[in-house]
Amino acid sequence: MKVPLIDKFGRAITYLRVSVTDRCDFRCVYCMVENMKFLPKKDLLTLEELDRLCSTFVSLGVQKLRITGGEPLVRRNVMNFFNGMARHLESGALKELTLTTNGSQLERFSKELYAAGIRRVNVSLDTLSEEKFARVTRWGRLSQVLRGIDAAQNAGLRIKINAVALKGFNQDELLTLTEWCAEGGMDLTWIEVMPMGEMGSEGRIGQYWSLRELRDTLDDHYTLVDLVERTGGPARYVRLEETGQKIGFITPLTHNFCESCNRVRLTCTGELYMCLGQEDMADLRLPLRKFPFSQEPLEAAIHDAIKLKPKGHDFDYSRQRVAGQMSRHMSHTGG
Ligand code: SAM
Ligand code: SF4
Repeated sequence: MKVPLIDKFGRAITYLRVSVTDRCDFRCVYCMVENMKFLPKKDLLTLEELDRLCSTFVSLGVQKLRITGGEPLVRRNVMNFFNGMARHLESGALKELTLTTNGSQLERFSKELYAAGIRRVNVSLDTLSEEKFARVTRWGRLSQVLRGIDAAQNAGLRIKINAVALKGFNQDELLTLTEWCAEGGMDLTWIEVMPMGEMGSEGRIGQYWSLRELRDTLDDHYTLVDLVERTGGPARYVRLEETGQKIGFITPLTHNFCESCNRVRLTCTGELYMCLGQEDMADLRLPLRKFPFSQEPLEAAIHDAIKLKPKGHDFDYSRQRVAGQMSRHMSHTGG
């Protein structure tokens, strides 16, 4: 029996988010600049290396894997990776394998994802207007994503929609998005936009819309029932009595519930970030590549990294300070 991953504050690390690529077929204005420079291919972990790393985490007690990016489904041969992880679901070591996607490739991959044991997928979608969708994603087409969502549901995948709350952009769609999700049997989670300094501002997109304000507006139209459930992350949930649907609010900066944080994040180059709000990271690519036939150095590096997990982030909550502190791209650490 291996020693499980418990940090120095007694928190068991059971949830790993893995960015399998920093590349994407969209260029969302709050996430990337249009002429984004991506990492050289040689820096990326191969799918075999990602498999080995994730399997090591599973052997150390990680029970939930969320695959993200960049856009995870644009990574070449990514299904080989998902199919590999399926063995940990089959053995029972892994309780859930899931992904966060922009939905553009779901039409192509949904059946295979279901066959690999995936049951739930988060799809990021900020607007139901074709014109606004093209504006916010720069390169995306709404119809393609909607077809992807249909295909996923037909394949048996349960979908949750993630929308970034953007003042003056999708504020007027709060009710239409809620209703559309209710009709499709989908939960909806709102994400507080994190201002990224070098992102440039495209028109008015990217302005901060407080989730408190959003919640108050929702409260004027529905009966909100607070749910006690926690996922160990920065999300809080309510149920809308009228539709039965779950609505989430992700406020990574203002409420982090750090005391119950159960997660760490792995980048596609093998850097392990112990906290979204801190710069501390451990390079796991080094022991991975240096000791291809021995697990001990890798396991020791992971244990050492977990010991460094900070008690919590220490963001200053004033927007200006936060903006100054976010130097990493979301597509690097994996949103
Ligand atoms: N490409 C996939 C997608 O869009 O779902 C997965 C990666 S993306 C970085 C993960 C999530 O991060 C998405 O829901 C996206 O909306 C969110 N995101 C990206 N930049 C953000 C920002 N500046 N503030 C808040 N959320 C952001
Ligand atoms: Fe791509 Fe997702 Fe970032 Fe949009 S949010 S640019 S879809 S990685």
